[in-house]
Amino acid sequence: MIKQEEAIGIYFHIPFCISKCPYCDFNSIAVSPIPEKKYTQALIEEIDYSVKYSLKSLGKRKVASIFFGGGTPSLFYPDSIAKCIEKVLSLFSPGPDMEVTLEVNPKTADRKKLNELCAGGINRLSIGVQSFQDRFLKNLGRAHDSSDAVRVLEDAKMVGFSNISLDLIFGIPDQTLIDWERDLDYALSVNPEHLSVYNLTIEEKTPFRELQRQGEIILPDEDTQVRMYGLAQEMLSEAGYEQYEISNYASPGFRCTHNEGYWIFKEYLGFGAGAHSYLREGLYGKGWGTRWKNETDPFEYISRLSDECSVITDKEQLTKEEAIKEAIFLGLRRMEGICLDDFEDRFGLSLEHTFSGVIPYLLQEGLISIVMGRLKLTNKGILLSNEVFLAFF
Ligand code: SF4
Repeated sequence: MIKQEEAIGIYFHIPFCISKCPYCDFNSIAVSPIPEKKYTQALIEEIDYSVKYSLKSLGKRKVASIFFGGGTPSLFYPDSIAKCIEKVLSLFSPGPDMEVTLEVNPKTADRKKLNELCAGGINRLSIGVQSFQDRFLKNLGRAHDSSDAVRVLEDAKMVGFSNISLDLIFGIPDQTLIDWERDLDYALSVNPEHLSVYNLTIEEKTPFRELQRQGEIILPDEDTQVRMYGLAQEMLSEAGYEQYEISNYASPGFRCTHNEGYWIFKEYLGFGAGAHSYLREGLYGKGWGTRWKNETDPFEYISRLSDECSVITDKEQLTKEEAIKEAIFLGLRRMEGICLDDFEDRFGLSLEHTFSGVIPYLLQEGLISIVMGRLKLTNKGILLSNEVFLAFF
């Protein structure tokens, strides 16, 4: 039985951008004109279609969070965003303190738009600042400059947003430790409630990968990147932020409810091109959870919905083994780690016993610790998290 009392997360994917950043491998495209009206209509139709054919059992589930991600959701008119929120609230009920986040590219939001977004129900902004220095924004191929970022932050506060998250990237080509310290200093001077700090990774099939192969871009060396990560931990912790996940820091009371939901295995529904959904006990039978994914091409997505066809392209029932792997992978990303008792209650297995060939080695190498019944990554383990995950699987 699906527990009626547990609030779910709702995700909307808006896959359009002003231009495609050369390091990005997200499901996003730069097209002109953007088919905003048709896409918004398709989102509404997808919710209706899902509730009619497969999600009936969710009934009036409470919603813990709504998250508009992308792509660039701030390219859309506030009215389109408000329509999606209204649709959700017509079928589900808002949980207490429902968090409603919209990702913002600083180039795409002025004070009027921010004001309308606030009035339409958005209560949290996640602003893709990435850097406060123009030369690094240029190196990243971003469409905005530092003055856009500063202005959007001021405007957001001015119109009343009191829950603002900033995204920053380190490990940018040509960036030094001092440059990174400047970005952190500036970010702290504007007092955001939350910060997401990502290490630039060069993904396959991106222009950056090709440029790297040709020697056209050179990233800071590994030692510098490790020090950059450590510097962020140190400066943000001194400023009173709690690191609660490998890349995320929050002022007290301002963790991201939506993303935390993913990491603690809460259920979520994703709408839009390429969106993922997960229900713990499944729509299609009992098991260890059902996951499904939508058509990634936004135009095909729109077309399928206008023909009243399903947009689900992949659907899988998790096996117990997969659910265990996922619980470890997601649990270790959190600074709180994995509660050994909860793990045993859920899977009927002792984590230490099941991984008795791995855990002593990781403990000995100082990559994980077990303290007060919780298994977590050490600082060294965070820096080598991929190796730790691989050791488990
Ligand atoms: S704005 Fe974000 S989603 Fe769009 S191309 Fe750049 S990194 Fe990718």
